[in-house]
Amino acid sequence: AKAQGRNNFKVYNRAMDFDSERRMILETGIRRALERDEFRIHYQPKVDASTGEVTSLEALLRWQHPDLGLLPPADFISLAEETGLIFSIGEWVLRQVCHQVREWADLGLGDVRVAVNLSGYQLQQQNLVGQISQALEDAGVSPECLELEVTETVVMQNPDFAVAILRQLKELGICISIDDFGTGYSSLSHLRRFSINTLKIDKSFVQEVERNATDAAITQAIIAMGKSLDLKIVAEGVETEGQLEFLRGHDCHEIQGYLFSQPVAVDKVTEILRNGLDL
Ligand code: C2E
Ligand code: CA
Ligand code: CA
Ligand code: CA
Repeated sequence: AKAQGRNNFKVYNRAMDFDSERRMILETGIRRALERDEFRIHYQPKVDASTGEVTSLEALLRWQHPDLGLLPPADFISLAEETGLIFSIGEWVLRQVCHQVREWADLGLGDVRVAVNLSGYQLQQQNLVGQISQALEDAGVSPECLELEVTETVVMQNPDFAVAILRQLKELGICISIDDFGTGYSSLSHLRRFSINTLKIDKSFVQEVERNATDAAITQAIIAMGKSLDLKIVAEGVETEGQLEFLRGHDCHEIQGYLFSQPVAVDKVTEILRNGLDL
């Protein structure tokens, strides 16, 4: 038993070494990634539930790592937050998106609206509002082309502060979405205080609407409540025709998910903007 214990300890230790080594590789890597331009933005369409038309896009960050390949945000965002590098990454994403929106306009594709995910750290950041309006101005892009997605949990951590910042952003003409809605603890009265335009129903509910009566009821209730507050309702993570039918049946406004498109690189999304989705 003793020998086995030692063995277990060794295995555990090696796993820790691996984790901390990977962590160190990633941390120095993030710094260099900004300098070497290794971050990429993939875009996922949001689709009008009744017409199937692309209404806007969501920008989703990727890291084209030289050794590890294309990494999803789950592999590096929390580390970027711990190290403070999220501020530089966040600014890069905003500027990159504004630049891309400008390019689409120059290609004759009109005013494309793109949603950018904001970390809770960014919401607390000094002069976030100034940084965003500067990015828009430098690219010559109208604020109506930018949407910001903030998670319900982040907003509820400091509601008074969030109310003030979100109001300033909305006054600029930027749209505000509450992301992952249904997973936190917002009350109706809070929602009314926030200057928000959109609720995004979290995919954990959406993906169970066909199987789980409670999740179906929650989804239905979010749609009804959002509508009564005059908010746009978007369902994320839609993968099946059945989920789509359920959401259409309850008059959800917009749909996002693999059923229509995965997040795709800029060339591919440009083609989608030009020709629509292959439905
Ligand atoms: P999120 O904002 O909730 O984004 C939705 C996630 O669900 C994305 O994962 C997207 O690729 C994925 N998804 C979309 N459709 C489907 C579907 O039909 N089925 C399933 N199973 N998944 C779907 P991704 O791209 O890995 O991003 C994960 C999270 O990373 C995002 O969650 C967001 O919180 C964060 N993130 C992404 N880009 C940024 C960024 O630029 N800045 C910050 N701070 N966070 C970001
Ligand atoms: Ca989001
Ligand atoms: Ca979400
Ligand atoms: Ca999420």
